[in-house]
Amino acid sequence: MPVKGVGEYDDQNIFARILRGEIPCQKVYEDAWALAFNDISPQAPVHVLVIPKGRWVSIADFAAHAADAEIAGFWRAVGAVAKQLDLEEPGYRLLLNMGEHGGQEVAHMHVHLFGGRPLGRMLERRAAGG
Ligand code: 5GP
Repeated sequence: MPVKGVGEYDDQNIFARILRGEIPCQKVYEDAWALAFNDISPQAPVHVLVIPKGRWVSIADFAAHAADAEIAGFWRAVGAVAKQLDLEEPGYRLLLNMGEHGGQEVAHMHVHLFGGRPLGRMLERRAAGG
C-alpha cells in the first residue's frame, strides 16, 4: 500500500469524490477555496473536516505548491468555519495528519476541527519512541 499523503494525487480519493458531488456529505461551509463537512466517524461533539478545493495530496504538497491566494483562502475558511459554529469562545482544536507517522488515511489534504467539549491533552502520553 502506498503511503497516504506522498506521491501523485489520485482523483478517485474519497474527498475528491465528495468535492465532485459523487458521494454525499453533511456540508457545514463552502466558499471558493474550501469545503467543510462533518466527519463520518466523529471523535468529538463537533468534528468537521475542512478541505481545500485544489488537488493537494497533503500539507507538504499544499505548502510547497499552492498559490498564495489559495493558502490564504483556505486558512481563512478554517477560521470562518469555527466562527460559524460558534466555537471561538469555548475554543476548539485543529489537527492535520500528514503521511505515515501522521496517520493520514485520505490522500487529499484536510484539517480536522474538533470542539464541543474540553479536549484534554494533545496526545496520549507515551514514552518517547513508544
Ligand atoms: P485522516 O486520518 O486522513 O487525517 O482522516 C480521515 C478522516 O476522514 C477520518 O476521520 C474519517 O472518519 C473521515 N472519512 C473517511 N471517509 C469519509 C467519508 O466518506 N465521509 C466523511 N464525511 N468522512 C470520511
